[in-house]
Amino acid sequence: MRAAVYQAAGVVTVEDVPDAALVEPTDAVVEVLRSCICGSDLWSYRGVVDRAPGSRCGHEFIGTVTDVGAAVTTVRPGDLVVSPFTWSDNTCPACLDGVHTRCDHGGGFGAPGSDGGQGEAVRVPQADGTLVAVPGGRAGVDDAQLPALLALSDVMATGLHGAVLAGVGAGSTAVVIGDGAVGLCAVLGARAVLGAERVVLMSRHEDRAAVGRAFGATDVVAARGEEGIAAVRELTGGRGARHVVEAVGTPQSWEMALGMARVGGQVGAVGVPHTSPEIPLFPIVRQHLSVAAGIAPVRKYLPDLVERVLAGTLDPSPVFDLTLPLAQVAEGYAAMDQRRSIKTVLAG
Ligand SMILES: [Zn+2]
Repeated sequence: MRAAVYQAAGVVTVEDVPDAALVEPTDAVVEVLRSCICGSDLWSYRGVVDRAPGSRCGHEFIGTVTDVGAAVTTVRPGDLVVSPFTWSDNTCPACLDGVHTRCDHGGGFGAPGSDGGQGEAVRVPQADGTLVAVPGGRAGVDDAQLPALLALSDVMATGLHGAVLAGVGAGSTAVVIGDGAVGLCAVLGARAVLGAERVVLMSRHEDRAAVGRAFGATDVVAARGEEGIAAVRELTGGRGARHVVEAVGTPQSWEMALGMARVGGQVGAVGVPHTSPEIPLFPIVRQHLSVAAGIAPVRKYLPDLVERVLAGTLDPSPVFDLTLPLAQVAEGYAAMDQRRSIKTVLAG
């Protein structure tokens, strides 16, 4: 089969690789219908973090089950499934605590020895605890709904998780730092899923801000740093925001998050730090802040989010603004790296 392979910083190619196949009785094989490129894929593409040459790329995909191991009971060949970006058993103490991304038997797609999402098929370990079958199957889903389902595999659930960690609820006023796909989905999650009344999006890019407004952002602030903090304080009666979603993961974004939270506020962080931001403790103590962080346990949110997409009450698909065939994956990486694309879908 064909799959995207990481060669070196700036070089992702499509190669012939061994067909995805069952190894363990708990595995399933999924033929990929749609996959996409993640902002986190760019860290190795840009050479910021090391990645093994020859490793497979991509961790976000939806597809059709083609084969299941003898121990698999919840999905069958023919099922349309959404996969989280990590696999999990959904039964261990970590999973039962809702932290599927730290499952005792978990792992991430694209890690050495695993298939990546950016390919024709994927071996999915722990299929019962990982995959969520779409009710009604492929026949019940329009092609136009596939990107919305694909977004659930990472960015939609990750953005929502940030808003949940920030304590956003019905009637909340929240700020989202980060206008990548995750930040935009945090806006959508805060508004459409959690019922926030007011969401301020920090964004300097008009194309991204437009998606943010379509997702329900009530205010957009282009300023950064101290100016950004001041702007949010002005919008919140001088007190700062009760709920702040940090969806970037840099020292600068953390500084803003802690600086704009009001006394007693909550910061929910889903931006994965690839550098080593040091969080100053003093503002947290002085401001009585709650800080919660974590790589999103997508599996926890998936069944509910799939229902919302099918019901037409949730559509994160506008985060995708470029669709390419797998054969042109290199162009997708380049487009996202150069910010010509917010997020690129690979189809066929
Ligand atoms: Zn587990």
